[in-house]
Amino acid sequence: MALETPNHTQTVAGWAAYDSSGKIAPYIFKRRENGVNDVTIQVMYCGICHTDLHHVKDDWGITMYPVVPGHEITGVITKVGSNVKNFKLGDRVGVGCLAASCLECEFCKNSQENYCDQIQFTYNGIFWDGTITYGGYSDMLVADHRYVVHVPDNLPMDAAAPLLCAGITVFSPMKDCQLLESPGKKVGIVGLGGLGHVAVKMAKAFGHQVTVISTSPSKENEAKQRLGADYFLVSTDAKQMQRGKRSLDIILDTVSAKHSLGPILELLKVNGTLVVVGAPDRPIELPSFPLIFGKRAVKGSMTGGMKETQEMMDVCGKHNITCDVELIKPDKINEALDRLARNDVRYRFVIDIAGTSKL
Ligand code: NAP
Ligand code: ZN
Repeated sequence: MALETPNHTQTVAGWAAYDSSGKIAPYIFKRRENGVNDVTIQVMYCGICHTDLHHVKDDWGITMYPVVPGHEITGVITKVGSNVKNFKLGDRVGVGCLAASCLECEFCKNSQENYCDQIQFTYNGIFWDGTITYGGYSDMLVADHRYVVHVPDNLPMDAAAPLLCAGITVFSPMKDCQLLESPGKKVGIVGLGGLGHVAVKMAKAFGHQVTVISTSPSKENEAKQRLGADYFLVSTDAKQMQRGKRSLDIILDTVSAKHSLGPILELLKVNGTLVVVGAPDRPIELPSFPLIFGKRAVKGSMTGGMKETQEMMDVCGKHNITCDVELIKPDKINEALDRLARNDVRYRFVIDIAGTSKL
């Protein structure tokens, strides 16, 4: 793997972490020429996902420094490769977690390229040309058009940006659990952060009764009044958790830190399903009794395929679902990452990369 090839001629201004202190500083680097299958995107906004925090701090032990994070990207197309038919100059587009996949395996052929075992991500991945991928904390991006989606006209580019990761990561398991077509289910969302808050909005838009399970009592009013949740359980309050036993059909766990799934499983009805999308750096505890006494299932889900990502964007356009964001300038990225680590954000930081907002 390399940082660049002779084809990397375009100079880009970005922001990178250089070591596991996780501190972000300006970073000038090169991107490839716009190839026949590529589009070049002037980045407008980029969300700060908790995965960015895991990467800059090397929580998962896989970070290649310097790392330019960012996989919740919205922007405008400035160049279009000759093979690209579905995008044109000036289109409002989004890029999420995926940068490349093998294009040949059963998953790539079946619009589930997110499960290709050669999947490469928008940052900290290895692109087809052997170079390390750099993400959306940068003013320009070159992306293969197969990993780019359209942003519906009615969605603002800042509040739509986190849909590209947070949105698709919760949409995909909801679709998988038939929550789009069968309303009236009892759905639990564990962790009211970036992923969790958009999950609440989607589950409500799809007609379900939603219970938030949170460690933060201070989020209860917002969860109910602004996001539309029906119930709120404080997970550290044993009495509240006891009252919620066997009440939910499906739960999405978005928690970013180590925790036990036992008390969460107890909230599921018999035969219920818990989908884990949060990715703590240490194994979560999975006690067997709540599993076997309730015939419950636990499964995982990783972002979504590209067809599904476009579908999610269109569904959000139809229901007017956007994220609640705190917009920041790039010089406040470190402060935002510190606050995200302290669980102090409502509910997603988004970087105004192009400087187009009044901040
Ligand atoms: P986030 O905004 O920080 O939200 C995480 C939430 O988890 C917090 O708001 C908090 O909610 C809860 N939480 C934090 N620490 C906790 C603890 N010690 N015990 C219990 N709950 C705790 O993060 P995010 O961006 O939504 O991402 C969440 C996780 O999903 C991260 O691990 C991220 O890497 C992962 N992720 C996975 C995928 C995928 O494809 N599967 C995609 C994107 C992100 P309360 O205050 O309500 O308790
Ligand atoms: Zn993410």
